[in-house]
Amino acid sequence: MTTLVQRLVFDQARGEVRDQDRRYLLMRPDVLMGTLRQLDDGTRSEVLAAFADSTAIHGTHSIIAYLSTLEADGEDGARALLSLIRETSPALGWGRWAFAPVEDGLALTVAAGYGPATQPVCAPIAGMFRTVAGVVLGNAVAVEETACAAMGDHDECRFIARRCSQGVAA
Ligand SMILES: [Zn+2]
Repeated sequence: MTTLVQRLVFDQARGEVRDQDRRYLLMRPDVLMGTLRQLDDGTRSEVLAAFADSTAIHGTHSIIAYLSTLEADGEDGARALLSLIRETSPALGWGRWAFAPVEDGLALTVAAGYGPATQPVCAPIAGMFRTVAGVVLGNAVAVEETACAAMGDHDECRFIARRCSQGVAA
């Protein structure tokens, strides 16, 4: 299978960047993060939660498309999907992702930095991880960011996805 970097089409006639039928938008991260910084803490929290939910919902489209290209299922399929995400995320500028199994869940470490912030600004990563971990673990999961590089104390952001006991996404 071709890598995302090979598949991305920069269609200047239409003014679009696409991976097959999935359109992407290139944006400077300081524009996005600068928008968030202009909001008060309460509003920013709401926007970040919506950002995470939207990424989880719309990211499913990409995950389903990726899964259909993998010639593996079960545990092999899960490993292949994680390997694909590990390759795709840096290609999209979302940092370098590393997965590790944890008891009843999955851990994700992301090496990327957004600069100083008053709270974790990694909502879209958490949303995408919610979708990926849900597929890999075969169960709805809740994702928590346990350490954030944007908060200044860590070099990396760390996320944990754990199965929801009710099987309902949190
Ligand atoms: Zn973070």
